[in-house]
Amino acid sequence: MKTIIEPFKIKSVEPIRFTTKEERVKILENAGYNPFLIHADEVLIDLLTDSGTSAMSAKQWAGIMDGDESYAGSRSFYRFESVVKDITGDKFIIPTHQGRAAEKILFSIIGGQGKFIPNNTHFDTTRANIEFSGAEAVDLICEVGKHPEQRADFKGNMDVEKLEIFIKETGAENIPVVMITITNNSGGGQPVSMQNIKDVKEVCKKYNLPLFIDACRFAENAYFIKKREKGYENKSIKEICQEIFSYADGATMSAKKDGLVNIGGFLSLNDDELAIKCRNLLIVTEGFPTYGGLAGRDLEAVAQGLEEVMEESYLQYRIRSTEYLGDKITAANVPIIEPPGGHAIYIDAKRFLPNVPPNQYPGQSIACELYIEGGIRGVEIGSVMFGKYDKKTGALISPSMELVRLAIPRRVYTQSHIDYVAEVIIEVYKNRDKLKGYEITYEAPMLRHFTAKFKPVN
Ligand SMILES: *Cc1c(COP(=O)(O)O)cnc(C)c1O
Repeated sequence: MKTIIEPFKIKSVEPIRFTTKEERVKILENAGYNPFLIHADEVLIDLLTDSGTSAMSAKQWAGIMDGDESYAGSRSFYRFESVVKDITGDKFIIPTHQGRAAEKILFSIIGGQGKFIPNNTHFDTTRANIEFSGAEAVDLICEVGKHPEQRADFKGNMDVEKLEIFIKETGAENIPVVMITITNNSGGGQPVSMQNIKDVKEVCKKYNLPLFIDACRFAENAYFIKKREKGYENKSIKEICQEIFSYADGATMSAKKDGLVNIGGFLSLNDDELAIKCRNLLIVTEGFPTYGGLAGRDLEAVAQGLEEVMEESYLQYRIRSTEYLGDKITAANVPIIEPPGGHAIYIDAKRFLPNVPPNQYPGQSIACELYIEGGIRGVEIGSVMFGKYDKKTGALISPSMELVRLAIPRRVYTQSHIDYVAEVIIEVYKNRDKLKGYEITYEAPMLRHFTAKFKPVN
């Protein structure tokens, strides 16, 4: 098999700024050892997120120029609507400025006190919007999805048995919707199988519950189905996507992921009554139904991006480049969530730094060292992001995993960038005995990871 190459050539480039290790030590110290507080200009390879960081194609940029900025009935809206309808098959397509705006609208209407919303794993904004409405967000991930070192094809699957038990115990009348997130971002970017989506749909049907898809990475998920699930090897990506959405009654989408754009999202749904309520709320919070929270040019870029993201050569390159990074660093024994997901590599900080306890933030330590060693920015997903304090003792309550996520922006970095990232990770791993833990010197009462400051433990 020959090298899988980037299925594009480069028309426009953006310089990246080189810094010395000495400079980076100072920069990190000034940022309170929190990579979120480093200026992007001082980052060499930015793997903080794959959200809104995609490179757009020449056709998308042409669409930006060609966008119709009419307040009502814009041509760009009708193109956007027809592209989304073709994929989801839903009757109503509501544009929003990003994914969480779609969530906010949906859960303001169907959420509320006493309601429960199951998902394989809720993404943080989904959980936040559900909880803000007064409802409860419940994760029902399959067992293998909880074990970072175990390899399986579809670790994002929902535990269907648990779902049925949960519905029986909670009462279907208290569950306004069941959700599935594809791929499962918070669970390591792991895919969900078509069989699992069908099985969840069967349970939903039995209890007369609607099924919604959190569709942020629908095309990446479809590619995994094509490669790993029997019966799909000869189907086109688009056919697979259409089948996925055929089991759902609606979807929320952040186009900042598989829309290949820097801003955008939508809510897609079938229910007439719910659509009217959502549109009314959209008008108050986002904008008129034919633009939502977006400019006409953005709708044009999303429409084009959604078509490009389903091209198989793109997805082959996309999924392979993530796997390539995973292969390179696991060959050097660096522990990661296995197998690599679609959009990111998750370093397992507990196994990487067994001597740094969770209350000294091993993930933060690795993230800091990746920056110092090579100017690479990743993000801790562990006790900094999700840690809570015991109300009585004040002791830290840690989540089950301590991770560092390295998310790969779409179409932005080349294979040599990724080779460099692997070299830096391996270098840091070799010197892991020298890594120190950290303590927090400042934290905000909520979402502390964004603004917290740290210092190394002596
Ligand atoms: C990014 C993301 C969202 C929220 O989308 P935004 O565009 O960031 O508001 C929701 N769900 C998942 C799975 C995501 O990855």
